[in-house]
Amino acid sequence: MGKSIIFTVDLEDWFTDGRQIQVESWDNYELMIETNVYAILSLLAKHNAKATFFILGWIAYKKPRLIQEIHAMRHEVASHGYAHELVYTLSEEKFRTDVRRSKLTLEDIIGAEVIGYRAPCFSMTRWGLDILKEEGFIYDSSIVPRTYHDLYSRLYESVENPFFEIIEQFWEVSLPTLSIGPLQIPWGGGGYFRFYPYPLFIYGVRKWISSGNPYIFYIHPYDLDPEQPRRTDYSRLNRLRRYYGLKSTRNKLERLIGQFECKSIVEYYPLLQQQNNRKWETQYEEDGQLFAHSPQ
Ligand SMILES: [Zn+2]
Repeated sequence: MGKSIIFTVDLEDWFTDGRQIQVESWDNYELMIETNVYAILSLLAKHNAKATFFILGWIAYKKPRLIQEIHAMRHEVASHGYAHELVYTLSEEKFRTDVRRSKLTLEDIIGAEVIGYRAPCFSMTRWGLDILKEEGFIYDSSIVPRTYHDLYSRLYESVENPFFEIIEQFWEVSLPTLSIGPLQIPWGGGGYFRFYPYPLFIYGVRKWISSGNPYIFYIHPYDLDPEQPRRTDYSRLNRLRRYYGLKSTRNKLERLIGQFECKSIVEYYPLLQQQNNRKWETQYEEDGQLFAHSPQ
C-alpha cells in the first residue's frame, strides 16, 4: 500500500449538470446513477477504502436508499448543492436556499450532520464561503487555484497548503494543480483522469505528493459509464471533456484505489469532525412536508 490520498466522488447523473437541461425537466430523463455508484462502492470496499461523496440534493431526494447505503458503508456524505447551479450565477439568497435544501435533504436521509460542500463545476465565490459557514458547514472543497477552465471560478491564484482555514473556523480543502512549463494543469481527476494515460496521471500525483502536499482526487459516477446517453446539446469541446476515455476509466480507477490508501476528507482531517459539535435533530412542521433542523 502506498501513501494515502483523499478520494472524493461528485455524485450526480449524466443529465444533472444544470447547464442546458434545467432542474425543472430532470424528471424526464432516466437516472443511470445507481449502477455506476455501486461500481465505485465495490471497488472501494474491495480495498477497504473510504471516500467523501459530494451528493446532489435532487439525486438524494430521488434515491434515498442509495445515500443511506453510502452512509452505512462509513463513507462521508457531503453536499454538492441541490440543483447543480453555478454559484457565481446565483444571488446570495438563492445560493443559501439551494445549499440549505441540499443539507437538510441529506441529513434527513442519513440522520447525521453534513459538514462538507463542493460547488458545482468548482464555481465558488467569496460570499458563498460565508454563507456555507452560516448554514452550518465546516468545510468547502471547491477551489482549483489558477486554472483556465471556462466554468471554474478564479478565487485563488495560489495556495500554500491545499488545506487551510479560509475564514475563521471554516476550512478549505482545495484541489491540486500541477505546474507544467508556463501552465497550471488541474490534476484532481474527473475528465483529466480519463484524458491522461494512467502512468502519466500517477506521475503527476506522485510529483504533487513529493512536494509535501495532500493529494485530493475526484471522480463522477458517469466517468465510468461508456453506455451513458450522449448529450446532443454539448459543444465539441464539452463532448470531448465528457466522453473521452470512458471505457478505460474503471480499470484506471481500480489501479488507483489499489495503489494508494484512500480516505474520506473527515478521515484525513479529523480536525473537521471535531469542529462539528452540533446535535442533529429534525423537526417536522405541521403539514409534515417541510422540515428544519436545530443545531445544538
Ligand atoms: Zn458536479
